[in-house]
Amino acid sequence: MRRLNFYSHEKISDRIVVVTEGYSMVHRFTIGVVIGDKQVLVIDSGLGMTGDLRPYIESIVGRKKPLLCVCTHGNIDHIGAACTFDEAYLNHGDWDDVARALDRERRMRDLNSFSLFNKEVVEYGRVHMVDNSKTEFKDVVEGQNFDLGGVVVEPIDLYGHTWGHYGFYIRQENIAFGGDGINVDTHLKRLDRAGLFKYRDTLRRFLSITGDDVKIYAGHLNRPHKSNVAKNVALACEEVANGQTQGDPPAETIFLEKTGNPAMRMHYHGNSCIIYDASRLK
Ligand SMILES: [Zn+2]
Repeated sequence: MRRLNFYSHEKISDRIVVVTEGYSMVHRFTIGVVIGDKQVLVIDSGLGMTGDLRPYIESIVGRKKPLLCVCTHGNIDHIGAACTFDEAYLNHGDWDDVARALDRERRMRDLNSFSLFNKEVVEYGRVHMVDNSKTEFKDVVEGQNFDLGGVVVEPIDLYGHTWGHYGFYIRQENIAFGGDGINVDTHLKRLDRAGLFKYRDTLRRFLSITGDDVKIYAGHLNRPHKSNVAKNVALACEEVANGQTQGDPPAETIFLEKTGNPAMRMHYHGNSCIIYDASRLK
């Protein structure tokens, strides 16, 4: 089988590298690499359909320092290769989801969608996927900063997309990695009305910690957002919670087993939208 490379990267500064894992041109996973003098922290780990993520990062940062991994949340496309690093961290709020996310057949089904149903990629994944069935996570909570030597990474609560979702802020670089919690399409399908109001407040609190000038990398985009995206998502949450949902179109999904659910809707504020479950708003 011909070898395929799904990774690319850009150096943002001496301390930050942004790696992209892409199984098609439209579905990509953004992986942050923060380079300390003593340790390297990898933020998210993709779908893990090959064992190549760690060697790829080592080709950039070398092999002398321990490589730790912290996942923004426990979804299948963020924890895939976490077990290949020296330590793996995930907030305990997502631990119940992990077994589902490590299921081999489910990972294959998701690869089918992420690759746009490409047989070559799916077959490659079937042969090369990381066996992550025994991944063990340590907890991460606010205040538990990663001091990597010369650079510190601060966990910030972003509970909403999942129950244990975190963002990570590198203050000296003014860069944050927001996972799936802050994006131009932010999926908040678990939240009811009260949850949406709470998420609005969570986003505003996030920005009160980072400041408005922060650059925010989202989990599926390799260019940073400005803080206006977080502000727009917060306002979209508020509007939906207040019942301003008239005309909101359906939010379709690439995952075949979940398609055609009429309760899933999109609501825009500015050019950012949230995807919500209308059946939870009654
Ligand atoms: Zn994701």
